[in-house]
Amino acid sequence: MLSEFDLIARYFTRPPRRQDVSVGIGDDCALLIPDHEAQLAISSDMLVEGRHFFPGAEPHALGHKCLAVNLSDLAAMGAEPVAFTLALALPEANQEWLARFSSGLLELADRHGCELIGGDTTKGPLNICITIFGKVPPGQALKRDAARAGDDIWISGNLGDARLALAGYRSELDLDESTLANAAGRMHRPTPRVELGMALRGIARAAIDVSDGLSGDIAHILKKSAVGARLQIDALPAGPMLAAQDQSIRRRFMLAGGDDYELCFTAPASMRDAVLHAAAASGTAVTRVGVIEDKPGLRLVDRDGAILDLETDSFDHFTSP
Ligand code: ADP
Ligand code: MG
Repeated sequence: MLSEFDLIARYFTRPPRRQDVSVGIGDDCALLIPDHEAQLAISSDMLVEGRHFFPGAEPHALGHKCLAVNLSDLAAMGAEPVAFTLALALPEANQEWLARFSSGLLELADRHGCELIGGDTTKGPLNICITIFGKVPPGQALKRDAARAGDDIWISGNLGDARLALAGYRSELDLDESTLANAAGRMHRPTPRVELGMALRGIARAAIDVSDGLSGDIAHILKKSAVGARLQIDALPAGPMLAAQDQSIRRRFMLAGGDDYELCFTAPASMRDAVLHAAAASGTAVTRVGVIEDKPGLRLVDRDGAILDLETDSFDHFTSP
């Protein structure tokens, strides 16, 4: 039987990789050497079995996803990943599960130079909580309260594919096998837009990552910045799978589907070329989808500028069914 300490040593402990981590896993605390030129960006996200992922979820993808959602929060702040801790409740010490989970987790960590520096391991219903640490030059974080009337609104990548996968799983839609597999890939292995977030420093104003659905997430920017927005619904970026669906499904999934982990950000119109340059430099597509306005509230308009009245509730853990 694998003990708690064997498990940590075998699946999560590796030689230190970063110069600014002076003590990693194995002592009472990790020790980081602070970068005095930078602000520290900190975020936690918890994933609960049956709530954020299906029971029996494939462990490699799960390891990827639980770090990806945390990296996405750093991206939405324009912060550079440094390190993270992992608090893990496991029903049992299943070695095959642990091997796959830790490789999914650590492969993504290595891709972003983000080091696992500690955590906690306990027996219990499967629950994964990561706290991530990043850094950002003072004054350059992309905060939710920074949007100004006249700013363009931009979205990275595509919206709605994860919601499409959910519709396939729930049999709300009859998807062919390859569409479901591709959409499921987007749901289970989201790409955190870390390079884009960092490239937008000094260019974008406000940003948020789209985790609960665009309409709900952009509302956080609008509220904090005390502004409103006009979104061109037909400008929202759909990938090829969603583009093949009916207009009402396409619109609904892009506006209110969660789990996309794309960035929604605002930037002055004078920065359009700079935004496109940052997007190209980070290898991430971006689409201009609307404008920030003084008048509070979110207005959805079609191609002709007519205001649409659509249900746009996004996900909320306590009020959604
Ligand atoms: P403590 O008793 O001080 O809480 P633990 O025995 O829980 O310490 O953990 C021993 C070491 O292993 C600590 O450095 C802790 O940060 C690390 N650790 C525990 N669980 C994990 C995990 N799931 N991933 C990474 N490091 C972990
Ligand atoms: Mg402990």
